[in-house]
Formats: sequence, structure tokens, C-alpha cells
Amino acid sequence: MTKFIFVTGGVVSSLGKGITTAAIAVLLEKRGLRVSIQKLDPYINVDPGTMSPFEHGEVYVTEDGAETDLDLGHYERFSQAPINRYSNATTGSIYSEVIRKERLGAYLGKTVQVIPHITDEIQSAIEQGAQRGTDVAVIEIGGTAGDIESLPFLEAIRQFALKKGKGNACFVHLTLLPYLSASGEMKTKPTQQSVGKLREIGIQPDILVCRCERPMTQEMRDKISLFCNVQPEDVIQEADVETTIYEVPLDLKREGLDDSLVQHLQLEATTSASMEDWEDLRQRFANPEGEVEIAVVGKYIELHDAYKSIYEALAHGGAGHRHKVRFRKIAAEDLFDRGPERLLDGVHGVLVPGGFGERGLEGKILAVRYAREHELPFFGICFGMQAMVIEYARHVAVIEGAHTSEVDPGCKAPVIDLMREQRDVTDKGGTMRLGAYPCRILDGTRAAAIYGRDMVLERHRHRWEFNNDYKRKLEKAGLRCSGIYEARGLVEIAELSERPFYLGVQYHPEYKSKPLQPHPLFAAFVGAAIDYSRGETAAAAAQTLEAEA
Ligand code: GLN
Repeated sequence: MTKFIFVTGGVVSSLGKGITTAAIAVLLEKRGLRVSIQKLDPYINVDPGTMSPFEHGEVYVTEDGAETDLDLGHYERFSQAPINRYSNATTGSIYSEVIRKERLGAYLGKTVQVIPHITDEIQSAIEQGAQRGTDVAVIEIGGTAGDIESLPFLEAIRQFALKKGKGNACFVHLTLLPYLSASGEMKTKPTQQSVGKLREIGIQPDILVCRCERPMTQEMRDKISLFCNVQPEDVIQEADVETTIYEVPLDLKREGLDDSLVQHLQLEATTSASMEDWEDLRQRFANPEGEVEIAVVGKYIELHDAYKSIYEALAHGGAGHRHKVRFRKIAAEDLFDRGPERLLDGVHGVLVPGGFGERGLEGKILAVRYAREHELPFFGICFGMQAMVIEYARHVAVIEGAHTSEVDPGCKAPVIDLMREQRDVTDKGGTMRLGAYPCRILDGTRAAAIYGRDMVLERHRHRWEFNNDYKRKLEKAGLRCSGIYEARGLVEIAELSERPFYLGVQYHPEYKSKPLQPHPLFAAFVGAAIDYSRGETAAAAAQTLEAEA
């Protein structure tokens, strides 16, 4: 029988509830348990696919092609939990389902209401999200206790836990202990108040995870325990991490969070829980042997979350090589205005991530050109790969009017064009080419050397594609199409094979990179950047030698 952990948040948003949820899964997996994870989001969008990255951060795509909240990225990076379209539900998806059933006549004769119809639907989503064979399902509730929007979700989990009975469900509440420098102390009042909010609606948290800048004293733990009606050993400290979010499982383990959970849920768990792999990872982040700087040239650069998985995947690649990756975040438009010579000088690699629409495209193309002409390692992802193809078509293959029909539908040479099956699509939600597709890697290419396999599954999220009408011309000019989706003959990877790393992919490899298993492409890209930086160091050393002589 599956047991359930509900993770709620209080006081403020952005406390790292997603990371804490993911870390809980890691700790339970370490105790020999099979875990699933789910996120319930109180917003009305059916999924975040139609939201701007500025609004909501990156859209995370699952293997089965769902567009989901970026917290699912944390879940997949940290844990082994199976993540799919049932792993994320929203107010929008719940209401759509209830309204669909109402039209079918499923509630014939009844007035359809938030309680019980919406709350019942939320509960079936929770059952569905707890995948078969799961020992423990961890469910994160988006938003903050006290929000109007999250009320139906909180009511639903209260009912759900009641039905499951004692020992089968538990509540973890993540809160903040703000530090007031004026009085030099950490405050527990907001925590008490947010626990009060939960208790008003009938939820008594079993465990409190307290985010704090400084360590908690025993006195504070006792006080929180007393006022919030939680055992002292269930008051868990989650202090700010020193170097990487991947320290969180180690910190929570040290605090005994897994023991608390095992006890509340009466779980049959193993005791051995070596955290050696995570400890090794922490070391790699804390004591890097060197640093490289990668330019990320995009449209939504002001918001770190907009390219969350990209930055994480680069960091994983770096950790694999025991190197720290510094990001030089460059707005593509800025690059266009101020020129690549100024903005890209000194970087060891250039990455152009995915994107949509006209703004910034010419800046991205300039970045690609600069990388090609300066033999910098280059990695283009989705729109970045499309920019790489346009750049090559314009300046090397000299195809006049080369462009993407996304930006200029009437262009003379749409080297990137809308997929045929996309032409009649009018709905915007969930209608792109989404999810995992197999890609055949061609022998003797850079991609083959990096992957070491001839078939890979990678995740997509786009409407436009490499236009095969220009394939011969581009290949003749030296651009190698090294990965193909054979069922449709679609080009998924393009590269300059003689370069250590000059490669673009139509898919999003960043979704599949994990800290303990860096994605081969990101590992290779960062590796090439490290080599480049050494070459640069060697060149600089030679120069100083020359100068001295
Ligand atoms: N806008 C491009 C397309 O739809 C690329 C999308 C992306 O980068 N995710 O094809």
C-alpha cells in the first residue's frame, strides 16, 4: 500500500519547496523505498506551456510530452521517481476534467461544487500520480498556506489523509525563520502564524522544515515545537546551502528528516543509507580544480529560472570534470546592439538556448557567427540550433535570404520551416512537437563519439524544423547532419565534425541531465570549453614568454 507525504509551504514563496520535496525523495530512496513525486499547482492555466518564461520560469517537458512546472525538473534531477504527465496537476486541469464530466452528465441531478466535486477530482489526481508499485508518494502543493487559490488543494489533502488513516499520510510544512539583523535574532512568529493557517483548515503539520540563514539553537527548536504542536525532533533545520542545491539531501539527512518520515509513516525501510555519491558530488562543487566561463545568449536572460535546466546541466557537466562553470548571461538584443567582440570576449564557450519569436534572434545569430569564426566551443539548443543553421546558411553556404519562417514567413530561403502537421494547428496549448523521440546518430560524427551510442531518446518542444530542401546545400558547405529522426527524416543534430564541439540539437538535452549522471553533450561541451581555456592559458603563457624574451 502506498503512503503519502504532503509538502506545503508557508510565510513566503521561493523557499525551495521543490528542492526540499526532491531531497525527501532522495532520502527515502536511500532507505530502499520506491518513491513517486507529484506537484499540484493552484494556477488556472491547464499547464504552464502557454506562460511566459518571465512569468513562470522554464517549462519542463516530460518524456511522455507533458509541459509542466519546473519543479519537476528538480524531481527528475535528484531522484529516480518516474515523472510523467500525471506528475503535475493544476487548478486548470482539475476544473477542465470536472467540467468535461459535467457535460457528459456524470453528475446528473447534482449541483457541481468545489466540495466535493473539485476536491474529489484532486484526490483522484493524487491517486493517479502515485504510480503503481510506489511505497511512498510525495506531493508538493504549490503556493503558500493562506492563498485563496490553494484552499481547495489543502481541503482535498486534509480529506485524503483522513481517509487513508493515521500512519498512512503525513504533512511536512516548509517555513521561513527570518533573521532580523537589527535585533540580531531569528524570528519564529511567521512560522507559528503559517502553521496556524493550516490548523484553521484542519491540517496539523507532522514535520516542520525551517529555512534559515543561520543555524537554529535548541531553544528555538523547543519554542517552535511547543507553539506549533510538533515534536522537537520533527523540527528540521534547512539552512542556506554554501555552494550547491545538491547539498540539501545531505543537510536534511544530517537533521534526521528521513527518520522522522519513516517513523510517522511506520515505513518498513532499510537502515543503511550511504550518502557517499552525494558527498562526492558536494566535494566536486565545493573544491573545483578549475573554472570555465560559458556565455548563455538568450532572450529571457534576466530570470535565472527561465533557463533553469540549462544552467543545471552545465553545472553537472562542470562537476563531472571537477570544474566550476561560471555563466556569463547575455541578453541577445544587447549582443546585437553592443557587438559580440565586446560581450563575448574571454568566454570559453557559447551556448544559445531555446526560444520563440523574433526578438533577439539576430543577436543570437551574431553569437553563433562569433563562436564559429573564433573556433569557440558552441552549443545550440532548439532555437539555438536553428540560429546555428541560419548562420551557416547565410555566411558559409551563402544561401540568399536564409531565415526561419517563424520570424519571416515570406523569406526567400526558409532553412528552418514549420512542420507540415503544424500548418493547420491553431490552439497554442500542448500542440507543439512534444516529448521524447528516437534519434539515430550517424557513424563517424562528433555526436556519435560523444554519445557512444547510435540511438538516443531526447525530448522536444518546438514547431519549426530543419528544412530538408536545403540539406544538400548545407552539407556540401560542411555542416554535417549527424542525428536523424528516421520515421520522418527530420534532422535533429547538426555539427561541424572537425571541431571539438560545434553542435546544435533540435531537442532539449538539458531535461535529461542529472548531477550524478551529467548529460554526455553537456559534459562534452564543458570539456571542450576547459580544453579551450587551457589552450588560451597556454597561448597567454607563450605570449608572456615571448614578451619577456
Ligand atoms: N521557436 C522554435 C520553434 O518553435 C524553437 C522552440 C524552442 O527553442 N523550444 O521551433
